[in-house]
Amino acid sequence: MKYISTRGIDKEEISSAMAIKRGLANDGGLYMPKSIPTLDGDALEMLLDLGYEKRCAKILGMFLSDYTEDELLEDAKAAYSKEKFTDGPAKTVYFDTTFMLELWHGPTCAFKDMALQIMPRLFTRALKKCEENRCAMILVATSGDTGKAALEGYKDVKNTKIKVFYPTDGVSCVQKMQMQSQTGGNVSIVGIRGNFDDAQNGVKEIFKDNTIKNELNESGVFLSSANSINWGRLVPQIVYYVSAYLDMVNMKKIALGDKIDVCVPTGNFGNIFAAYIAKQMGLPINKLICASNKNDVLTEFLTSGRYSRNRKFYTTISPSMDILISSNLERLIYLIAGKDATRGYMECLAKDGEYTVDGVILEKIKESFVAYSADEEKTKETIKEFYEKENCPIDPHTAVAVYATKCYKAASGSNIPTLTVSTASPYKFAKDVLNAIGNTDECTEVEALYRLSDITKTNIPYPLFGIEKREIIHKDIIEVSEMPASCSEFANA
Ligand SMILES: *Cc1c(COP(=O)(O)O)cnc(C)c1O
Repeated sequence: MKYISTRGIDKEEISSAMAIKRGLANDGGLYMPKSIPTLDGDALEMLLDLGYEKRCAKILGMFLSDYTEDELLEDAKAAYSKEKFTDGPAKTVYFDTTFMLELWHGPTCAFKDMALQIMPRLFTRALKKCEENRCAMILVATSGDTGKAALEGYKDVKNTKIKVFYPTDGVSCVQKMQMQSQTGGNVSIVGIRGNFDDAQNGVKEIFKDNTIKNELNESGVFLSSANSINWGRLVPQIVYYVSAYLDMVNMKKIALGDKIDVCVPTGNFGNIFAAYIAKQMGLPINKLICASNKNDVLTEFLTSGRYSRNRKFYTTISPSMDILISSNLERLIYLIAGKDATRGYMECLAKDGEYTVDGVILEKIKESFVAYSADEEKTKETIKEFYEKENCPIDPHTAVAVYATKCYKAASGSNIPTLTVSTASPYKFAKDVLNAIGNTDECTEVEALYRLSDITKTNIPYPLFGIEKREIIHKDIIEVSEMPASCSEFANA
């Protein structure tokens, strides 16, 4: 299976290993497989009795044809071990009215672990397969969860360095502590004065800058990414949709072939795009419900066809979805409208900050997608409602999705079972969760962990227990304009 750029200026067709090694195409586009493999009923049936690791190896193998199934199985076993995912990697839980796919039982308590525990393994193999001897510097822009998950995945991985930029006032206190206390000999973590999009754009600029590239090359270093623009990040996310569907069949809640709806709390459009690929492969998904917070750029796009980043940016209690540019949307547009249209729209976005897709394209998008957004009040109300009804605390990102699911059910009258994706542990946002369920007493974020545990009679997950006792190692804060220099410095460190 060959990979090509979504923009079509870079005409090279490359292997999956090379796509994972590079991250971004030379023309600024994202890599996509030339075709989408199919997963028919028989293929699904064969996966029914397998555990997560084997399902993973089979599905990854359909996309990563230059990796052997043994290699993929070995990587999946190492990535999704009991040690790292104490409650299993992708847990499908049935509540009274909805199925919840819990993806946060890993080492950083957010769903990013699902991809970032396996991606470094795929990446190291990619370097070998491409006969690359230089050291890779992984550059990450994070709104909180990706950074920590990438650090945990890449720390002390041979032949790599990892550098993370986060908006210093745009992440939660616990997220900041998680990153600032990161151990490992190959890590650098820096706060920037700006929001997540500034960080992401800063990283994109560095990738485009040939002067830096040459300079790094002389130090024996090349750049790559772990953001969800890298195919190696995206492809492991397809697996859990297939796996959750099979779990629902095994739980006898649906029969093989029955359709389900899937609702995903969305930011950079990576997670929901993986669900779209699963649907394109043949997984019986009816609608994909795109849930946004008050930053509702995707809700507007998916309902009107107009994408405009020229809007106010809000900092919310679901910070991993605080975003104005959803990078992976480019992949959806590419699949639906083709490379020439994609290039045109992305040029408009860069130049004017907006574009509008034509009506035919919008109709095609709407065949698969619906979209809803929850403002801060609705998000908090949903956390409270869910807790009172199910006796289970949910995090603000998950709450946005639970709200969107409710809106969709009310609007469509659909009786199709919905799989709502739960992307973070409530403990990662303990203070906001406590506030939402009615406990408004003053406390620090760390005290909130213990209080949430007391009140809800649930356990603090192992990665967050005792976080306040860890040493703060990484304290630097810089301007956006200093990002390139900071990279050069780290390359030579
Ligand atoms: C990253 C993240 C999201 C958004 O996922 P995308 O793939 O960027 O759309 C949602 N919830 C949580 C908790 C996240 O960390």
